[in-house]
Amino acid sequence: MISKLVTRLEPYVPGEQLNDKHYIKLNTNESPYPPSPAVKAVLDTFTYEDLRLYSDPEAVVLCNTIAKTHGVSSDMVLAVGGSDEILSYAFMAFFDSGDKVWYPDVTYGFYNVLAKMFGLNAHTPPLDADFRVNIDDYIKADGHIIIANPNAPTGIAFAPSDIESILAANKDRLFIADEAYAAFSSDKSCVPLLKRYENLLVIHTYSKSYSLAGMRLGYALGAPALVDVLRRVKNSFNPYNLDRVSIEVGAAAILDTRYLNETAAKTIKTREYTREKLERLGFHVLPSESNFLFVRCDGVEGIQLYQTLRDAGILVRHFNKPRIRDFIRISIGMPKDMDKVIEILEDCK
Ligand code: PMP
Repeated sequence: MISKLVTRLEPYVPGEQLNDKHYIKLNTNESPYPPSPAVKAVLDTFTYEDLRLYSDPEAVVLCNTIAKTHGVSSDMVLAVGGSDEILSYAFMAFFDSGDKVWYPDVTYGFYNVLAKMFGLNAHTPPLDADFRVNIDDYIKADGHIIIANPNAPTGIAFAPSDIESILAANKDRLFIADEAYAAFSSDKSCVPLLKRYENLLVIHTYSKSYSLAGMRLGYALGAPALVDVLRRVKNSFNPYNLDRVSIEVGAAAILDTRYLNETAAKTIKTREYTREKLERLGFHVLPSESNFLFVRCDGVEGIQLYQTLRDAGILVRHFNKPRIRDFIRISIGMPKDMDKVIEILEDCK
């Protein structure tokens, strides 16, 4: 009665969204800042009667605005309901059961979920001892590649020149760059490489740097031929995938680059402040270029750090997985939230 595909599902486990008491919520890399005032302006003027009608299935207004922002043509953009959605479409569009897919052993857990769901053969070269991607592993990949840059949950980024070496060596393979956290890195986006590589698909989300996790918006950038395939998949599943509000909000938010840069800069400043304090306390903190820190402490188990913070009303993320179970991932919140984290962790040592 149940399909083979569903029988082998092992769904992604998202970070907790608890309501039992008030928590300082630092477990799902949301932004502590509100969305751009331009978003509020859209919501304030939105005519609710318009919801009676379907949205534009091509989300032209949004795709054109995204395209302009990145200096690419509109046929290189597909806007969707979050980057998880575009990842699902991409796995559906470019893989057949049994195909090989390459991604690091420590990375965003959703890739594993999708690889299992589509019956793929996952190759997961280990990150090195410093949790960095070893570029050579991917130079000789014999399948499509997906890499989060900066990586999650480590926060470590690598240079677009390294990505270019992989792209150049794998011209007949697809390279998916998941840039969910690129706004918090220093010039690590490989969007400029789109001009030279037709095997590159870049995925962006509005959830982190645009403070719009609750809206569900993301997009893919790639050569028109790649985007067209994704669009065919989208139109076979959910042609009106974006609602009317999201389309307008997304266009307004991406135009407000000043607000994006300001909030990203504040997050980076708080991140570096927190990193320095924790390192001074003797914690090991990976060099993050994202809006979270991956932290461990000699002699204290990750689950213990997680539980102590939770008991103090602070939610962070712990992954009970090989190589990273000693770590906790702490999203960067307001400076006062991070002071509280530092205060609690000081007592953990
Ligand atoms: N990619 C990475 C690396 C992530 O950490 C996340 C957030 N969980 C996503 C994609 C998905 O983001 P969203 O679906 O909210 O756009």
